[in-house]
Amino acid sequence: DRLVSGNAGNDEQYLELSLRPQRLNQYIGQKKVKENLGVFIQAAKMREETLDHVLLYGPPGLGKTTLAAIVANEMGVNLRTTSGPAIERPGDLAAILTALEPGDVLFIDEIHRLQRSIEEVLYPAMEDFCLDIVIGKGPEARSVRLDLPPFTLVGATTRAGLLTAPLRDRFGVLSRLEYYQEDELSEIVQRTADILQIGIDRRASAEIARRSRGTPRIANRLLRRVRDFVQVLGGESITEQAATEALERLQVDRLGLDHIDHKLLMGIIEKYRGGPVGLDTISATISEESSTIEDVYEPYLLQIGFLQRTSRGRMVTEEVYRHFNLEVPRHD
Ligand code: ADP
Repeated sequence: DRLVSGNAGNDEQYLELSLRPQRLNQYIGQKKVKENLGVFIQAAKMREETLDHVLLYGPPGLGKTTLAAIVANEMGVNLRTTSGPAIERPGDLAAILTALEPGDVLFIDEIHRLQRSIEEVLYPAMEDFCLDIVIGKGPEARSVRLDLPPFTLVGATTRAGLLTAPLRDRFGVLSRLEYYQEDELSEIVQRTADILQIGIDRRASAEIARRSRGTPRIANRLLRRVRDFVQVLGGESITEQAATEALERLQVDRLGLDHIDHKLLMGIIEKYRGGPVGLDTISATISEESSTIEDVYEPYLLQIGFLQRTSRGRMVTEEVYRHFNLEVPRHD
């Protein structure tokens, strides 16, 4: 597993449970999203209505699941959790929907991965709180309408563009989560350290934050790994020096790049003089699927301005040469 991946590892989801903030005011960062949701929640409560359906989108590990749970908490209702790939048949979704209690929050992670036939069950459910069920087959078949309790759907996806238009249009609230600032991540590291009873000083949490690619999940994971090093080496608490040493040994560089990022960037520099070079060519050069490069490796490199997408392919920027202490080539 990649240490700097935004996706949760196998046991990680379980480990993370205790680290989840429960209330909106404990949720660090994402100021705009938080403010808006706060207003919508308060308004819905004043009107004694269910909250409008909410779509949360943004890269993995930024706190979408956490926010869904907070919404349920703040509304004082139950949270039901499922995911696009977990719902295999329309009947699976019907079973989940009919088991909801009035006002409940239904969280569907990776909602862009719902099959089309299942998505169609969601449309009337979201719009009119009802289910259209077909009974019988062939000419005998007829459709019956079943009423559902009012509920709030919270959908999460890594990219809003992956959703079909009819599904996207049925969400009243669309909130985009952004990569976190270093000071926010540092606060998250401090908070996690408190919960796990790890001693850490401010500079050490800042160092971990710097290397966490704007992502709370990665920050929490790096904190746990750094703690392992400090513990084994007999340290009492995490100092800046201990954190830096551990992170070097973990091969996460001072911008949070790992060997895969290095391979990708250096491949473009060494073989294609910095680009532009087509995605498929890069894919063949470093033996990784194009889709993996596009969905997993590239977003952060684009975000920090290390990679540019041009009409002729990918190009590394001058920043990359400086980061690797290489001479910046002159293009004339
Ligand atoms: P996503 O659903 O977007 O992949 P999660 O909600 O599972 O992300 O968040 C991953 C981990 O990061 C959680 O364990 C949570 O503790 C932590 N986290 C995410 N956002 C925040 C935040 N704003 N404040 C504190 N911790 C956070």
